[in-house]
Amino acid sequence: MIVRASLFLLFLAVLPAALSGQQPPAASTNPLLQAWTTPFGVPPFGEIKPEHFLPAIRAGVDAQRKEIDAIANNPEAPTFANTIEAMENAGELLARVSPVFSNMQSSNTNEQLQAINREVAPLLTALRDDIRLNPALFARVRTLWQARASLKLTPVQARLLDEQYKGFVRGGANLTPEQKDRFRAINAELSALGIKFGDNLLHDTNTYRLVVEKDADLKGLPPSIVAAGADAAKAAGLAGRWVYTLQAPSIWPFLQYADNRDLRRQILEAYTTRNDRGDQYDNKANVARQAALRAERAQLLGYKSHADFVLEENMAKTPDKVYGLLNQLWTPARAMALREAADQQALIKASGGAFTLEAADWRYYQEKIKQQRFALDEQVVRPYFKLDSVRQGAFYVANRLYGLTVTPRPDLPTYHPEVQAFEVKDADGSHLGVFYSDYHPRPGKRVGAWSSTFRSTRMKDGQRVTPVVVNVCNFSRPAGDEPALLTLEEVGTLFHEFGHALSSLLSRSPYRGLGGFPRDFVEVPSQIMENWALHPDVMKVYAKHYKTGEPIPVDLVEKIKKAEQFDQGFITVEYLAASLLDMDWHTLPAGPAKDTAAFEQAAMAKIQLPRDIVPRYRSTYFNHIFGPGGGYSSGYYAYIWSEVLDQDAFDAFREKGLFDAATARGFRTILEKGGTEDPMALYKAFRGREPSVEPLLRKRGLK
Ligand SMILES: [Zn+2]
Repeated sequence: MIVRASLFLLFLAVLPAALSGQQPPAASTNPLLQAWTTPFGVPPFGEIKPEHFLPAIRAGVDAQRKEIDAIANNPEAPTFANTIEAMENAGELLARVSPVFSNMQSSNTNEQLQAINREVAPLLTALRDDIRLNPALFARVRTLWQARASLKLTPVQARLLDEQYKGFVRGGANLTPEQKDRFRAINAELSALGIKFGDNLLHDTNTYRLVVEKDADLKGLPPSIVAAGADAAKAAGLAGRWVYTLQAPSIWPFLQYADNRDLRRQILEAYTTRNDRGDQYDNKANVARQAALRAERAQLLGYKSHADFVLEENMAKTPDKVYGLLNQLWTPARAMALREAADQQALIKASGGAFTLEAADWRYYQEKIKQQRFALDEQVVRPYFKLDSVRQGAFYVANRLYGLTVTPRPDLPTYHPEVQAFEVKDADGSHLGVFYSDYHPRPGKRVGAWSSTFRSTRMKDGQRVTPVVVNVCNFSRPAGDEPALLTLEEVGTLFHEFGHALSSLLSRSPYRGLGGFPRDFVEVPSQIMENWALHPDVMKVYAKHYKTGEPIPVDLVEKIKKAEQFDQGFITVEYLAASLLDMDWHTLPAGPAKDTAAFEQAAMAKIQLPRDIVPRYRSTYFNHIFGPGGGYSSGYYAYIWSEVLDQDAFDAFREKGLFDAATARGFRTILEKGGTEDPMALYKAFRGREPSVEPLLRKRGLK
């Protein structure tokens, strides 16, 4: 997942700061308002206290308003420089401060910061609307856009102008005054609902724990998972017992290995009923209201649905194209999942069970079948995937492909003791940017894994502003006396997020407003990295036993490769079900709010979701689409859409060589150009043709 330097920044990025020398009063003791004298100008995390955020953001918002007025009311006729570039170069203070705040909201929050966020979010939403709905400002942009053919702009400048113009139109600039009022009210309510959704989800995820009292109930769990449970119990003041939680490194291995079926059902039930229990943290009404408001907003703007509105900006363009791809994959994936279920039911019967396979059994019996069929035991694999070694493996790939070197910088400030800082240098030794990694779960961190920035790149006064990037994950902790050892899935995730980081680090976009890829291309640079993660030639370099330093044995590598397509029916079905649920919510026309439970049930019945599979995310905890910002709404399909591209792109390396210099150079060009060109044009320049879906079907065994 990628979090763009916060959604509001996406808008602010294309905004003003021209009130030059926006330096705060010298007397200020607020570190957010002072120059940052840290190495590479990273945020001075050690000095920032929660109470610093609100005054700094207020100051940034005020500054921005003045900047907007200055540009909008400039008596001179609009030019690219005094309007478009002025907007692009503005908003310095807020652009510096708000990513620090939004990153802390996601990765290191607490009740104090959550309360501040409830004050900050309306300020930012209102500012964004004030800019987009400013008639004088829009008139200048429109004048330029209409005259664009005669302005003698470079292609990148022309694209920036076009994007800004579209941003205004999509941001409501053409609405009547009454419609504008309604539009603002919708945005304000949606912003508050997204925050509430996220806070509720954090609550329900963090409060549940399964406390195991008896040794006997641990049967089947590998020693490392038992040790992790004991550590968690100790931390919770329950020494002598074992605690399992809804965090990924806890619940998934528990479901995979615990013989006690009743406990498996309990923990999965707790997971799948999050924010669906009719209490004050229930998200059902929130979800339905968000969907209705998005549909209403789309209608105001002249679109049939929120999905039509969103997809216009993506490669997919229309809901039909998205449904087309999802449905093409659904039928073979579902058939494959049903075969997997039948295999498990047969195993249940053979081992004397007289019950029907349920969701809480799936991972458990799949694990048993995997061990039978491939003799692949993940607990034998994990000692080769020490977290530090895997990260080193990702750095190695970046070095072989692009010549980058990554060096630890323990001298840089961080926001948590578990965060590590690195300097990334280009092949010629020049400074490229700063990379932070933050890899383990904690109560103030949202679930999942993502890449974000504290500062994104652009050109300023002829100099490249270097990016500061962070990867945030929820990986297995060290347990007992073992270091953090990753599962194969976690290995893929580490490389994935580092792929997003590379995309941010290598971008040469001169403008913040053209920094990013569209949602359904943004997963290409990340997902392609997963192909190197588990490639035998790469594993043998970094996958070394944490005790002996022995490289991973060849036969184990072969087993991993052979098992690659195992379980793909389940994985594809749970993912596609969530993608289709997202699309169903967001292709709704404007109308009254739905009954969330009934709506979801009908959506899943329509596709005949096998009853022993739960969608990867149910509506009440689908943070990608209903969480703060809702960045993946009508966009969860993006992972598989991007996978069509990344599999086809990786085929180029399969054909020419895993680290072929010319192919790597070509792919790097895509990352460097970022949002400055049309992604399909970039892709065709790299591959010499449009992408084909065949490599994806092959990889997932769907063909
Ligand atoms: Zn991603």
